[in-house]
Amino acid sequence: MDIEKYKINAQNFLSELDKEYYLHFAGLKEELNIGAIYDKFGELFLLEYFNLIKEFKDKAKGEDRKKYSYLLKFCGETLIEKPVKELIDEMGEDEARAKIEVEGKDVSYRYSEVLLSNEPDKTKRDSIDEKRNKLVEKQFNPKLYMYWDTLHAQAGKLRFECYNDMFSYLKGVDLSRLKSDMEKLLEVTHQIYIDNFGKLLLSETGIELDNSKKSDFAYLKRATKYDVFFKKERLVELFKQTLALMGIDLDRQKNIFLDVEERKNKSPRAFCCTVKIPDEIYLVIMPKGGQDDFEAMFHEGGHAEHFSNTRSSLDFEYKFLGDSAVTEGYAFAMENLMQNKEWLVYFLKMSPEYAREFVYFSNVAKLWFCRRYAGKLKYELILHGSDPISGKDAIYRQILTAANLMQYSSADYLKDVDDSFYCADYIRAWVFEAQLKDHMHQKFGYGWFRQKKAGDFLKELWSYGMKYDPVEILQQLGYKDLDINYLIYSLMEEIKKNK
Ligand SMILES: [Zn+2]
Repeated sequence: MDIEKYKINAQNFLSELDKEYYLHFAGLKEELNIGAIYDKFGELFLLEYFNLIKEFKDKAKGEDRKKYSYLLKFCGETLIEKPVKELIDEMGEDEARAKIEVEGKDVSYRYSEVLLSNEPDKTKRDSIDEKRNKLVEKQFNPKLYMYWDTLHAQAGKLRFECYNDMFSYLKGVDLSRLKSDMEKLLEVTHQIYIDNFGKLLLSETGIELDNSKKSDFAYLKRATKYDVFFKKERLVELFKQTLALMGIDLDRQKNIFLDVEERKNKSPRAFCCTVKIPDEIYLVIMPKGGQDDFEAMFHEGGHAEHFSNTRSSLDFEYKFLGDSAVTEGYAFAMENLMQNKEWLVYFLKMSPEYAREFVYFSNVAKLWFCRRYAGKLKYELILHGSDPISGKDAIYRQILTAANLMQYSSADYLKDVDDSFYCADYIRAWVFEAQLKDHMHQKFGYGWFRQKKAGDFLKELWSYGMKYDPVEILQQLGYKDLDINYLIYSLMEEIKKNK
């Protein structure tokens, strides 16, 4: 096996894949031909290569060992998906075509999510929700069952006991320990969640937590009352101005292709594609306004800044592969500026009182997400364990409902699942970001975004790409480990302080 050739092919594969995603989701190309790209690079996904890279890794030490483990994760993750590539394309097409009937009109399944979050009438919202669930059960679940069943079998072919073990091993993350950490979060925040989320839900929507459904959260989170501050015309400009204070001139970053044009089939949600790191990064936005839209733009902008500031001299593994919790953490660091009162007052001209209310709202919503992800991780570890899939729909409903204290539908038990335990990466990224924020507040103060020094600090971190994992980065900053207490403390403090 020529490992150098393998790496070049892997890089080209990832580049072509991201370019294809960019063109399709930016609305520049109708079809999405992922299958064809997999076929073209078929030799990347041979079982014998997986075994060889594993052998190299086991023999290697230090940096080489780390690079092989990044490469092994890439190989394993993509290899097991090979037999379901066509199924993924089919499921994507099914979903794009699926329709439900709302008040006598056909509405696409995807768009019905937007309707749900904008529907103030609970009876109507429940009806849309019910129709969506029925559709998922009937039309999506049979193929999703095949999808997960195949992936589980594939993990066995790579000689893992189950999908859980495979990803614990490839990520180098103890998923059971992370689950325990998140159980602690659930326990410690239980009362504060009931008191604050329950009250917020009641005051904003008139619904009691006991009678609520997950779809009520979509409406609560939409929070149209804040729209006056989050105008779509100001979205890009505010992102640029924020970076400018940190000493970063987005207009002069020629490696970031800012795509803000309106197109018919463009994804309404901002996204970032890393075709070549650091030379060809797409930041794609279709501004529609609202706090969700701003959060998404700053999140994706965080990814774009991370990868565009990555040193080009780094090895392929450190630029394209590695631990996703790193880049997600940097993305959250930018996104969470929207939970910074000084930022809200400075850029959006909110009154300090209104900024406080908004920060309270954002943190209560964030607690909802953290609790949801605690439930997701717990459930996904059961779904992907050694037992067969069937019958796990009731477990899904029970675990997620217990985490958010809102009714979840069992219909989503195969759909509301992240590939390759990405949910664990988000959780670790939240913890990483809470500690990074703690460090930056100590070093640069609460208004860190107004200092070029803070920008320089971030640029330095970003320049290492994905070379270091969150634990290594935190150790360089003087922390011992990823520590869930920082996330718990930050959430509880912000909620108490801004109540
Ligand atoms: Zn992200």
